[in-house]
Amino acid sequence: MTHFWKSLISGAGELSPNCREAARLQSEALDHRLRWRQRMGLRIHLLLCHWCQRYGKQLRFLRSAAHRHDEHEQTLPPQSLRPEARERIKQRINSEKS
Ligand SMILES: [Zn+2]
Repeated sequence: MTHFWKSLISGAGELSPNCREAARLQSEALDHRLRWRQRMGLRIHLLLCHWCQRYGKQLRFLRSAAHRHDEHEQTLPPQSLRPEARERIKQRINSEKS
């Protein structure tokens, strides 16, 4: 290993989180924006660590698949309630209100 890479990695190592931390940051990043320092560290870690790169890809894939599933569920018509049943429920709610 050349001196250049050694110093780069040891320098990045101070800023870069370990794999456990990187995995946590990656899933956190899907839910909210990371702080600048966290983003930097994660980016550096991902440059050096192929395992975490792959993990991040998998994570995003799973997350987007889950989202697609949610949307699909929501666009399904509510088959459980027939119009008459819905009308009856509405009337009951109205009568309780008054
Ligand atoms: Zn890693």
